[in-house]
Amino acid sequence: MTKITAGSEVEAYCTKCKLVLAHTVVALQGAKPRRVRCNTCSGEHNYRPNKPAGKLAPTKKPEKAKSATRKTRQSWDEVMQEASSKAHKPYSMSGSFIEGDWIEHATFGLGCVQAFIPPNKISVRFADSTKTLICNQNR
Ligand SMILES: [Zn+2]
Repeated sequence: MTKITAGSEVEAYCTKCKLVLAHTVVALQGAKPRRVRCNTCSGEHNYRPNKPAGKLAPTKKPEKAKSATRKTRQSWDEVMQEASSKAHKPYSMSGSFIEGDWIEHATFGLGCVQAFIPPNKISVRFADSTKTLICNQNR
């Protein structure tokens, strides 16, 4: 470990640049720098090793978006599991369905009706796709 003396370069928080930058030690207090001069702006100020705590909140990592994506995926799997134990209508073109209905399609499997599109279509979300299907064909 190098001993810090007047003239040594240290990393310190610059009160003018508002960044942790290289500073030259001007005065010491024991073995620690007391006053330093910023190598960037030449401003002389008391030594601060880090950004002052308080007003500035720590930078948040973008974890939120990540977990949200995972949640959506999980919830769909959960919803599917839940729905398979619930009542659902077999899909047919003559059937009538409303938003929120669960239907069982011969080809696509279990799906949730996202929207009824008048007069005779429904938008249905299946495990890996959303399809528009015909309904209300019994007249
Ligand atoms: Zn500076």
